Amino acid sequence: MQTQLFIHGEWRDGAAGKTMEVVNPATEQVVAEVASAERSDVDAAVAAARGALAGPWGALSARERGRLVWQLGERLLGRADEIARLETLHNGKPIFESRQIEIPAAAECLQYFAGWADKVHGETVPVKGNFLTYTLREPIGVVAAIVPWNFPLLLTVWKVAPALACGNTVIIKPASQTPLTALALAEMAAEVGIPAGVINVVTGPGATVGQMLVEHPGIDKIAFTGDTATGKQIMRASADTLKRITLELGGKSPNIVFPDADIDAAVRGATTGIFYGKGEVCAAGSRLLVATSIRAEFLEKVAARAAKMVPGDPMDPKTRLGAISSKHQLDRNLRYIDLAKKEGATLIAGGGRADIGTGKGFFLQATVFADVTPEMTIAREEIFGPVLAAIEFADVDEAIARANQTPYGLAAAVWTKDIKKAHHVARRLQAGTVWINTYNVYDTAAPFGGYKQSGFGREMSLHALEHYTQVKTVWVDLNQ
Ligand code: NAD
Repeated sequence: MQTQLFIHGEWRDGAAGKTMEVVNPATEQVVAEVASAERSDVDAAVAAARGALAGPWGALSARERGRLVWQLGERLLGRADEIARLETLHNGKPIFESRQIEIPAAAECLQYFAGWADKVHGETVPVKGNFLTYTLREPIGVVAAIVPWNFPLLLTVWKVAPALACGNTVIIKPASQTPLTALALAEMAAEVGIPAGVINVVTGPGATVGQMLVEHPGIDKIAFTGDTATGKQIMRASADTLKRITLELGGKSPNIVFPDADIDAAVRGATTGIFYGKGEVCAAGSRLLVATSIRAEFLEKVAARAAKMVPGDPMDPKTRLGAISSKHQLDRNLRYIDLAKKEGATLIAGGGRADIGTGKGFFLQATVFADVTPEMTIAREEIFGPVLAAIEFADVDEAIARANQTPYGLAAAVWTKDIKKAHHVARRLQAGTVWINTYNVYDTAAPFGGYKQSGFGREMSLHALEHYTQVKTVWVDLNQ
C-alpha cells in the first residue's frame, strides 16, 4: 500500500514529515498513515507537471498517449480485486459495489477516453478572403483534480482519463479520508510507463493543500467534485488566476412516482436510489415524491425493503449496505434524523445506529421518513446518507413544482408507464440527468453533471473533452 506523496515519478514524505491517519469506518481502526503535503511539495508537484507537459508527455503522439491510458485501464482491471479491497477499506462501501461496479467503471472510463486521444482535432474554417484558417485543439495544461471521499477512485478517473487523453498533466488531491486508491492509481501509471510528472498525487487537508492548488499560478484548471459550499469557495479562490474550473457538487434529487408506474420496479428504484453507496452519492434519490393516491401502499413496500437492507461487513460479498464513511458523517446523519422527528416527519424504517455484531464501526440503519413537507430541513438539505424523505403530490404540475423546489439540479427520476407524461416531465425537470423508469444508471459515453447549484461542466462522454482542451485559431495569408 502506497502512503507517500507521488511527485515526478518518486515516492516521498511530506516536506515537514507530517502524516494523516486513514481509518477503516467498518472497524474504527487506523489502517494507514499517509503523508501530508506542505507548500514546497505542492510547488514540486506543479513543477513536475509543468515539466512533463513541455517534455515527455507533450512530445508523445496522441495515439501513443492513448495507448498508455488504455494500458492504465488494463492494469487496473488486472489488479481489480486488490484495488477494490483498498477502496472498501478506507470508504466502508460494500465490496460488491467496489469490485463489481466501480473499479470496472473506472477502467472502462480510462479506456473510453484512451480511444478519444487521437480523435480530438481541429477544423479548417471557410473564412472570407484568401486565407487558410484552421484550429488546433490543445490541452489546457496542468489540471488539479480535487476529489471527495464517496467514490475515491471513480471520481479521480472521471477527471484524470479525459485530462490525459487530451494531453494535459495532472495533480490529484484525494480526500484526506480516502487517499489510498489515488495513490495506487499513480503506482499503476508508473508501472505501465506513463512518464514521470504526468500524474502526481499530493495528499493532505483540503483547507491547506486543496487551497494551495486552487490559488497556484502554475495550475491551469481545477476539476472538483464535492460540497456546494466548497465549490463556491474554489470558484472565488481561483478567480485571481482565472483558472478554468468544472464543479460537480451536491444534490437533493427527486424520484417521482406516478400512480400508473410499475409499482414494484419503482419501489426497487426508490430504495437503490437512496441506499446504493450508503446514500453518500451526489445523485442519490433522497426525495421520494409519491402521488397521494398510491402513497400508503407504496411507502409500506419501501419501508419493508428498507428493513431488509441490514448493514453488514463491507468486505462480505453479500453485504449491500456498508459503513458510513466517517464518524463525522454518521453524526451528521443522526442530527438530521433527530431534526426530522422534531419537525414532525414520521419515521417508517430505520432511524438509528446499527451494530453488525462487532461493537465497532459507523453503521446506520436504512432510514425512511414519511409525511415530509417541502419546508422541512430533510426535504431541503443534502444529508449525504441512507436517509429517504417521502413527500406527497397531487398531480403532475405539483410533482414538477416540488421536484424543482431546490437550489440543486443534479439528477431526477420519473416512474410512469405513460410515455408522453414521462417525456413531458423530463423536459420540465431542472436536472442534468433525468432517468425514466430507472435510477442510478451511468455510462462513460453519457454526460453527467449539474444544473443550478449542482455545478457546471460535464464529466464522462465527449462533452468532457471540451473541458480539457482549448481552441487555437491559426490564420495563414495566402495572398502573393
Ligand atoms: P468537501 O467538498 O469539503 O471535500 C471534497 C474535496 O475538496 C476533498 O478533497 C477536500 O480535501 C477538498 N477541499 C476541501 N476544502 C477545500 C478548499 N477550501 N479548497 C480546495 N479543496 C478543498 O466535502 P466534505 O467536507 O468531505 O463533505 C462535506 C459534505 O459535502 C458532505 O456531507 C456532502 O453533503 C457533500 N459532498 C458531496 C459530494 C458530491 O459528490 N456531490 C461528495 C462529497 C461530499
